[in-house]
Amino acid sequence: MSKRDYYEVLEVGKSATIDEIKSAYRILAKKYHPDLNPDDKEAESKFKEATEAYEVLSDEEKRKRYDTYGHSAFSTEDFSGFGGFGGFGGFGIDFDDLFGDLFGGGSQSRRRNVPRKGRDVSGVLDLDFKEAVFGVEKELKYKNRTECNDCKGTGAENGTEIETCPICKGSGYVTQTQSTLFGQFASKTACRNCQGTGKVIKKACSTCKGQGIIENEKTIKIRVPAGVNDDTIIQMGGLGDSGINGGPPGDLLVHLRIKKDENIKREGFNLYRDIKISFPQACLGAEIEVETLDSVESYSIPKGTQSETIFKLKGKGVPILKREGRGDFFFKVRVDVPEKLTDRQKELLREFAEEENQTVKESKKGFFDKAKDFIEGLGD
Ligand SMILES: [Zn+2]
Ligand SMILES: [Zn+2]
Repeated sequence: MSKRDYYEVLEVGKSATIDEIKSAYRILAKKYHPDLNPDDKEAESKFKEATEAYEVLSDEEKRKRYDTYGHSAFSTEDFSGFGGFGGFGGFGIDFDDLFGDLFGGGSQSRRRNVPRKGRDVSGVLDLDFKEAVFGVEKELKYKNRTECNDCKGTGAENGTEIETCPICKGSGYVTQTQSTLFGQFASKTACRNCQGTGKVIKKACSTCKGQGIIENEKTIKIRVPAGVNDDTIIQMGGLGDSGINGGPPGDLLVHLRIKKDENIKREGFNLYRDIKISFPQACLGAEIEVETLDSVESYSIPKGTQSETIFKLKGKGVPILKREGRGDFFFKVRVDVPEKLTDRQKELLREFAEEENQTVKESKKGFFDKAKDFIEGLGD
């Protein structure tokens, strides 16, 4: 099944603001939400499609990736949250914020029990210039927070009991009655004794200090595909923090820091370098060798080549990320002027000038001597 363009799904323009995207999604989600369309498969798939589009376009980083690489910027696993549970509360989308009014004002206690996707964590992977171009497998250390194994996330020491909070009787909130001039008002606030969970722990788990969550330091092997750039983010689904209330775990977002190359510059999928050729080679033409990133190519420079002329080696650039083919390799020839000449070379050049009816006035000092004189002169 081919995927529809996310902008098309939300019926917004490519330059839509975040508010426009949000309100477009609100309209569609209200129309197709599964709770409002029970047993309607088509509505369900429309809801999922809109939610996926919203998840990407509402996130600045993901939207940028989508604009650059299209659907291929995301693997199908990136959206594994979809089949996982009831369809609500995942994907890092704040549904309460969007639909607070739609589903009864989202009371505090209700909100707390909604399954939510865990937090995304991030890491930075350093790459050499060549590794980014051709891909590499590298280890990355990162941290995430997951459920404590010793207490299974309950925060209670192994075997000890978890009791219903005696203050709120397990409801998670307390009702306070206030008397005012206009009468009595009752307001509900989260129970402080149990932080609104409705449960209290008799003895806190010593591993996680009763938090139910521990921080882990992990090492993972990352397969970096060929053609990545500084703004590529590699998303490792499910390696972030544990989900909340049974929601799916967050993702690990790997940012890349790529070293520059001394000689070769990169722009998109094309590579650029300068090559020196001699004056006779420029005049008469020559077969020269051009060092690309992964090969040495022979190239015939035509006679009469001007300095700064750019030549192209097709398909010798950077492999195109997640697609077939490679960019091109461009080299700019610079005609090199020798600083030291033998007597014979001088004689030949004088003859050359004579042939052209040019006059030459030979100076005892070379270019760098002159430059030195100039700089010294500045001090006076
Ligand atoms: Zn624990
Ligand atoms: Zn309580």
